[in-house]
Amino acid sequence: MKRITVFCGSSTGTDDVYKSQAALLGQTLAEKGIELVFGGGKVGLMGVVADGALHKGGKVIGVIPDFFKIRNVVHERLTELIWVDGMHERKKRMNELCDGVIALPGGYGTLEEFFEMLTWGQLGLHNKPVALLNTNGFYDPLIALVQSMVAKGFLKEVNQQLLIVSDNINDLLDKMINYTPPSAGKWIR
Ligand code: AMP
Repeated sequence: MKRITVFCGSSTGTDDVYKSQAALLGQTLAEKGIELVFGGGKVGLMGVVADGALHKGGKVIGVIPDFFKIRNVVHERLTELIWVDGMHERKKRMNELCDGVIALPGGYGTLEEFFEMLTWGQLGLHNKPVALLNTNGFYDPLIALVQSMVAKGFLKEVNQQLLIVSDNINDLLDKMINYTPPSAGKWIR
């Protein structure tokens, strides 16, 4: 994997472990020579993961919509900053640029971006690994919901494999590198 897109909170959360794991992910990517693609903000876990990678000499690409120009949220020390026309264009570019996706803890924005990539994988529009870093069990309620979707007949059991989960960064990256998409896509019977 050459480049990974990270979706994460524009807040840092209430526990320092979210910040320390975000920094460690940025550092780990840089040490492994994997470029980081992210939302381009300096706020929240976004700024932390970017700084972690930059600190270790990693390459960091921010993809940010034009409407953020008027706000004081843009990270100014990136390797490359790509301005795009709105949120849809941003997600399209972030997908084009990366070989896989990781979500760290976050809010609505993080989940929206993450689930679009998961849905595109389910539709067979890409074959990239889509992974959750489940720091301190943050995503346990979401994983329980996914299991409930399978139990209640709204998600094919085989498509649960589209969702890669670990609470450990190196384990998560190993799973992403070894990922093979489930053989039966949503529309293949
Ligand atoms: P949230 O999880 O709701 O905090 O939203 C975080 C996600 O939404 C990030 O991955 C960004 O792509 C986008 N986003 C939200 N707020 C900002 C911001 N201030 N600057 C840049 N991107 C943002």
